[in-house]
Amino acid sequence: MFDILSIIPNKKKLTQSGWYSFNAICCDKRGHKSDKRQRGGIKFDGTNWTYNCFNCSFSCHYELGRSITNRTRELLKWCGVDEVQIQRWNIESLQNKDLLDFTKKFKKEKPLEFKTKKLPDSELLDENNEAHKKYIDYLIKRKIDFKKRQFYVAPFDEGRNANRIIIPYYYNGEIVGHTSRFLDDRTPKYINDQQPGYVFGYDDQKSDWQIALLMEGIFDALAIDGLALTHNTINDDQVRFIRQLNKEVIFVPDRDKTGLDTCERALEVGYKVSLPNWDSDVKDVNDAVIKYGKLATLLSIIQCATTSKIKIEMIRKRIGN
Ligand SMILES: [Zn+2]
Repeated sequence: MFDILSIIPNKKKLTQSGWYSFNAICCDKRGHKSDKRQRGGIKFDGTNWTYNCFNCSFSCHYELGRSITNRTRELLKWCGVDEVQIQRWNIESLQNKDLLDFTKKFKKEKPLEFKTKKLPDSELLDENNEAHKKYIDYLIKRKIDFKKRQFYVAPFDEGRNANRIIIPYYYNGEIVGHTSRFLDDRTPKYINDQQPGYVFGYDDQKSDWQIALLMEGIFDALAIDGLALTHNTINDDQVRFIRQLNKEVIFVPDRDKTGLDTCERALEVGYKVSLPNWDSDVKDVNDAVIKYGKLATLLSIIQCATTSKIKIEMIRKRIGN
């Protein structure tokens, strides 16, 4: 492809803001006084560039993969390039259209960003601390390995903030939110500080795992190192976020109406859905892990994963929702 800097004959200087400055070549061609103060500039964005004149305010743009625009053709002619050569470059540029489409798509998929956040006033869960015993007992009861990750508690709190386990949300090692699980019978049981598009468990997914298991609840995800939506819908940003993992996704819904309704959405966005043949008292993945153990639960999920809408419908009827 042509190199615009070598085509522009005037002496160039690279400025701190990334512009190549030179005496503009447009002004006198357009009836203005010719530029002697290096008011012409070229700035690159990869292979693409923009020409801008701060004297006569002519500007034009070139993008690899697109036709050379009329204004850019003008600029090239002012630099002494003939029509035939411009046409040749134009064809060359258009041959890169696939590359352009690819990079456009790639650009659109730039990773989601999350603000770092602070946890509420709390202390790290410690099995040697007597005041933390009820939280440890709760996690053991739900078959959550409390030594594998960091949980926080606030045993000094009373009233509104008491009796809760605080589970941080991580993204690339930074805390970007949290959920509080209250252990008394208040409603709601959970309070989430969750940024749009976030999915719990993202950092727990190991690079050599081919599959990511997606569930609704945070304790389901904790029980089998999966991902949690923390609600029963899958929004577009979450789909995008999960796609960053580059894994096959298996959605495991809760055994209730809303959970089963979410199956359709999961299939739509390209996930498999798994509804293993668990006993009727098992309402979600955490229940399954408590009843059958982690390994048996994992195996049943993977064995029953399907992309077939018909199969899912049949199982839904059997479950009775
Ligand atoms: Zn000019």
